[in-house]
Amino acid sequence: MTEIKYVTVLGAGTMGAGIAQVCASAGCRATLFDVDDDALEQGFDRIRRNLDKGLELGKLSSQEHHDSLNRLQGAHDLAFAVERADLVVEAVPEVLELKQRIFREVDAAAPPHAILATNTSSLSIAGISEAVADPSRVVGLHFFNPVHLMKLVEVVWGPRTSDAVRDAATDFVRRLGKEPVVVKDSPGFASSRLGIVLGMEAIRMVEEGVAAPEDIDRAMELGYRHPMGPLRLTDLVGLDVRLGIAQYLHETLGSEAFRPPDLLRRMVEEGKLGKKSGRGFYDWSEG
Ligand code: NAD
Repeated sequence: MTEIKYVTVLGAGTMGAGIAQVCASAGCRATLFDVDDDALEQGFDRIRRNLDKGLELGKLSSQEHHDSLNRLQGAHDLAFAVERADLVVEAVPEVLELKQRIFREVDAAAPPHAILATNTSSLSIAGISEAVADPSRVVGLHFFNPVHLMKLVEVVWGPRTSDAVRDAATDFVRRLGKEPVVVKDSPGFASSRLGIVLGMEAIRMVEEGVAAPEDIDRAMELGYRHPMGPLRLTDLVGLDVRLGIAQYLHETLGSEAFRPPDLLRRMVEEGKLGKKSGRGFYDWSEG
């Protein structure tokens, strides 16, 4: 397969900006595209802040800081953004029709050798790949938040993903300094399927007054050595994002373990989305 030198990331939100950052830091030319100019601007701000912090902590040299920024560019036009790409990573909101529409556009504009990856947390790779002429080049690359700190990337291969594309994607993850796990295309992959059960059960426990969020989290942190409890994690991921995944897993896998509790629905309706909105199971208003 062609060596991956040019990466284009679609969507400059929480995940997209982070993915572009780690690709640039690993030596690729990274183009970040978003339909929303403000989102693109904010994505670049976050990248700069992350790299500044890395410099401050001595995790990267000033040369690496400079080179990483130099290898990044923004784009306002999708066709322009993907025209040289060896790898496209889509990180737009978790809506199948939206992802399919974007993949259709990318299919028409990206070079034929380009690998088309999606950062979906739970949607079917096969479903997304229906939008492109050659589904063998579609693969899931499921990064974790915050991308520059989290080691894990799930490489999700669909029924029609070619072995060459799966292997190239796995090698690329290693090149980013991350740890790939290879997972078959099935709802929730490995991580969300387990993580959502824990998250939904923890919310049910808050709903039933079993314990305070802090105590539920501490139980998992100290009792099971989880680095972070399920409720704080839900706040970081976003309650709306987790609700969407839980609904999807409940519909596709059928188990009651995935049914979103009423408390979660209510909090989302009230705009308590976690860290990004200043309030979730914890108060984040102080920053
Ligand atoms: P986000 O809302 O932070 O960012 C999405 C970005 O996509 C926004 O900037 C938006 O302007 C942009 N966008 C919308 N429509 C677009 C279009 N047509 N073309 C280009 N850009 C468009 O979302 P996120 O949290 O970064 O999630 C993105 C994807 O990553 C989702 O599929 C999500 O399930 C997945 N994911 C999220 C997390 C997480 O912790 N947030 C973790 C792993 C995977």
